[in-house]
Amino acid sequence: MKNIAKTLPVLYIVIPCYNEARVLPVTEPAFLMKLLDLIAAGSISDDSRILFVDDGSKDATWDLIGQFHEQDRHVAGIQQSRNRGHQNAVLAGLMEAKDLCDITISIDCDGQDDINAMDEMIRQYKDGCDVVYGVRAKRDTDTFFKRWSAESFYKLLNRMGGEVVYNHADYRLISSRVLQELARFHEVNIFLRGLIPLVGFKSTSVYYDRSERVAGESHYPFRKMLALAMDGITSLSIRPIRIITALGFFISLASVLAIIWVIIGHFMGNTTNGWSSTVCAIFFMGGVQLLSIGVIGEYVGKIYLETKQRPRYIISDRIGMAEEDGKR
Ligand code: UDP
Ligand code: MG
Repeated sequence: MKNIAKTLPVLYIVIPCYNEARVLPVTEPAFLMKLLDLIAAGSISDDSRILFVDDGSKDATWDLIGQFHEQDRHVAGIQQSRNRGHQNAVLAGLMEAKDLCDITISIDCDGQDDINAMDEMIRQYKDGCDVVYGVRAKRDTDTFFKRWSAESFYKLLNRMGGEVVYNHADYRLISSRVLQELARFHEVNIFLRGLIPLVGFKSTSVYYDRSERVAGESHYPFRKMLALAMDGITSLSIRPIRIITALGFFISLASVLAIIWVIIGHFMGNTTNGWSSTVCAIFFMGGVQLLSIGVIGEYVGKIYLETKQRPRYIISDRIGMAEEDGKR
């Protein structure tokens, strides 16, 4: 078993931030208070940190993180060399934290996820769980459209073979030993929600209510949600290619039957000028083929990107990660 009894676990709260200068002044004090409360309650070690990951923000986000560190040494920060997206930002934070702590909790910086669920997450960790998923109990505060699109997203993902926890975003506790294993997954296209279940280990869920963003706007408009869904599916499963193969098979079968029917019709002498049917067939086949090539192209593109083995994140600056400074 883990050495919890002897020493308190070191917790790193990993928080990705992209252009959040309006949000951080509101949410940072709440995160810090939570961390200090947990320390005071003897639940976690005093070496615990809040680790902000600035995902190449163009506003004052990084300066703010610097100021927070000046105010309290429990706040640390890393800056990505450019904007790489939410998933890579979280991964960067987790990978930076994995050798410095016993547990990480990743959470968005916009105050939407209930920080009080952390107590229960830590309790579950102490009870022997290595992964604790934060799951939204209800989505009252989301618009109908957001709720509908998000729910379709989970359903589609699961149907396409990606194993994801329903209504769980990226609010979760992960122990450092799971992160050590996660570090052995070398893919560049990352979809953490699907990857963590693949790593395994004992896991459980903690339920919480999601509230509204304290300020600013969502970085996930419909277009990006769709991209994330596509990415999630194509990173986790090859089921779409199988569906295309099956579709191709059935269409070919149908065509054979149609050809027989046409030939019989020809010899029966009742062939009309079949313009409509010809045009319909051409359009339909054209559409199906283009779609299929597109899906396969999506995978080929992924293979292309993976073979390059580009770094998954590049850190340009660190604050409050003292022992790490300048080493890499
Ligand atoms: N985020 C990021 N990089 C990006 C986009 C978003 O690090 O390119 C962060 C953002 O600052 C926030 C979290 O990811 O902490 C979730 O983003 P957002 O709240 O906009 O998404 P939503 O909650 O609407 O799905
Ligand atoms: Mg949000």
